[in-house]
Amino acid sequence: MNGKDYYQILGVPRTATAEEIKKAHRRLARKYHPDLNPGDKKAEEQFKLIQEAYDVLSDEEKRKKYDQYGEMWQQMPFGAGAGPRPGTQYTTSDIPFDFGGINFEDFLGQFFSGGRGRSGRVADPFAEFRQRSEAPAEDIVFGIDITLEEAYRGVTRSIHVTVEDVCPDCQGMGQRRNSRGQFDLGAGVCPRCRGTGRVPAQRSGQVTIPPGAWDGLRLKLSGQGAADARGRRGDLYIQVRVLPHPKFERDGQNLLFDVAVPYTIAALGGEVTVETLDGQKRQLIVPPGIQTGQKLRLSGQGMPALQGRPAGDAFARVRITVPRDLSERERQLLQELARLRNDTIRSTK
Ligand SMILES: [Zn+2]
Repeated sequence: MNGKDYYQILGVPRTATAEEIKKAHRRLARKYHPDLNPGDKKAEEQFKLIQEAYDVLSDEEKRKKYDQYGEMWQQMPFGAGAGPRPGTQYTTSDIPFDFGGINFEDFLGQFFSGGRGRSGRVADPFAEFRQRSEAPAEDIVFGIDITLEEAYRGVTRSIHVTVEDVCPDCQGMGQRRNSRGQFDLGAGVCPRCRGTGRVPAQRSGQVTIPPGAWDGLRLKLSGQGAADARGRRGDLYIQVRVLPHPKFERDGQNLLFDVAVPYTIAALGGEVTVETLDGQKRQLIVPPGIQTGQKLRLSGQGMPALQGRPAGDAFARVRITVPRDLSERERQLLQELARLRNDTIRSTK
């Protein structure tokens, strides 16, 4: 490809805008397209040249290099981000139908043998006929709110997600089919996707959130994200949000809750009844002399193990309670206790 004047090939001045280059290319590519000039070797050669010129001049970075270095442009290093772009490469197996009756694979093979630039980018001979979206496959994040109880037991939810899918009418080509059901250069854009090759699609499914799920946990559903026009799919991520609970706080897989302990039990030791997250009532042994804020462990009563996080324990945080409805007898006994401990009390009675 040495010594060619790409501007001359496309018949545009060196000052041509991107739009002018695009238009010139489209016009010439239609004129020399092998499909419209069957068996014409000269037209085929010209078509290749036009594609080659357009491949360089339509790419801002390449055009800059070409303007600066002329035929030597490819030996110059590319700036960051100007190298092969994954989104522009594809294999013929991505396009499982024939294009207007010609053998697509043969044609591509023939074209690619001369059309593969040194940058590694594969020129797409139909890039201009096809207006399909270059929007990439995307990962989608879908949020689900669950309660702490649901996180404890696990829960299955129905989800409805709208993601971009390959247009079923044109299989992502963005092109209208002709009366024979084939893609045809003159047929115009696909009316369903307006030529983008993608349409939003509703997808529904069941998602099972495992027992032990935590706030911020992400579940990956591979290949369930948005598709690009060639059918490559991103992933769908289910992001779990665990709603705050009125009683239980969470610390990793451990649970923490407050337990009211009467002052008599706190002083003498005893038992209190607590309700754990699974709804079960359990007896909790309180040792004598327990203080407010001390925590009593309920082994194995935290969140279940998940993804390498071991199962947690539940902790009851002691809050010592004092009665407000003392009987006369209780008051007398407490006053006597206070005197024994030399506590200064107000003797109102
Ligand atoms: Zn379409």
